Amino acid sequence: MSEKQIEKLARKEALQLGSYNAGMSDDAVRETWQVDSISRLASNENPLGASPKVAAALRSALNHSSIYPDSASLKLRQALAELTSTEAGRIVIGNGSEELLKLLCLAFINPGERVVTLEPSFGLHQIYPQMMGAQVTLVPVDPQMEFDLPAWQQALSQPAKMVILSNPSNPVGCMLGREDFNRLIEQVPQDCILVIDEAYYEYCHHLSDYPDSLSVLKTLPGPWIVLRTFSKAWGLAGLRVGYGIASDDALAEVINRVRTPFNINRSAQAAALAALQDPDHVTASVALVTEQREQMRQQLMSLGYQVAPSVANFLFFRTGGDSRDLANKLLARGIIVKPWREAGYTDWVRVSVGSPEDNQIFINALRDIYATQCG
Ligand SMILES: *Cc1c(COP(=O)(O)O)cnc(C)c1O
Repeated sequence: MSEKQIEKLARKEALQLGSYNAGMSDDAVRETWQVDSISRLASNENPLGASPKVAAALRSALNHSSIYPDSASLKLRQALAELTSTEAGRIVIGNGSEELLKLLCLAFINPGERVVTLEPSFGLHQIYPQMMGAQVTLVPVDPQMEFDLPAWQQALSQPAKMVILSNPSNPVGCMLGREDFNRLIEQVPQDCILVIDEAYYEYCHHLSDYPDSLSVLKTLPGPWIVLRTFSKAWGLAGLRVGYGIASDDALAEVINRVRTPFNINRSAQAAALAALQDPDHVTASVALVTEQREQMRQQLMSLGYQVAPSVANFLFFRTGGDSRDLANKLLARGIIVKPWREAGYTDWVRVSVGSPEDNQIFINALRDIYATQCG
């Protein structure tokens, strides 16, 4: 079959869809750049890995590999309901929270409907709505790389089917504080689905200005969902578990109707349940990352880079040139970062806060690259 025939058969939304910038695997980097050791600073993973309890749970789940997992992920939903003080009927589980973004779009977005999200943004906040034929409105951050409330208020003055807002934002890391959060959600049109993506919740929920979204959103008349994930602070990115807390059972049920019945495999369910038994692991991870992040911020600033504010486990900094050039120089040293490719931000790089060793390797490499340029 020719490319032309495929083009004729496929939906135009599928043909025109941008691809998600998932970054290179360690193996691909080793092969392409002929390096032995790799510093993974591109995917915001937990440098401490998962809790040791997870490995034990996985070993025991292996004995049941021939048996289908619980399609309802009931135990996990009950545990998450307890964790978030909600009811299990309002909890939905996804193959990563990214699957929940896709399911939300699949369940709600008709071609031509408007979706409002942030710019620069997590790629899938644009890609999944576009897959359904949505018109995506992007709301940029302000020059200080903070949420631009007036711009949001203006964007929300028009009808919209869905608002997708990550707080803190990815890739910037900035946080929408309590007061601004309250003002923003008041503007969300009534028949609009409000999606708050809190993938980095664990890194900032203790900050006094971080909005307690679940208690504030309760007062909203319209539908909403808060998305969180086991991929970041819980250290389970490889197993793919995310969850949503929906405004009501009916919203959770629609999402369940469009998902594949066994979207969370047996090992992933067991691992997430085990991870929840070890909240101290998250606390320790967050403490390490916070301390390392502030050290890296200082080091980047002393090298002359503009660094965006961040309360998450990554930093977004401006390279002053095409970010791919710097990213390639780092790749040649085995360091993987994420050069941003979105128009207007192609001179920015997102770097994850990794282990103290990897962070030091990264900073040393930058100093070295800088010295080579000047010498
Ligand atoms: C990492 C991330 C996710 C996706 O995480 P999953 O691994 O799919 O659970 C979702 N949203 C944002 C903003 C992220 O940074």
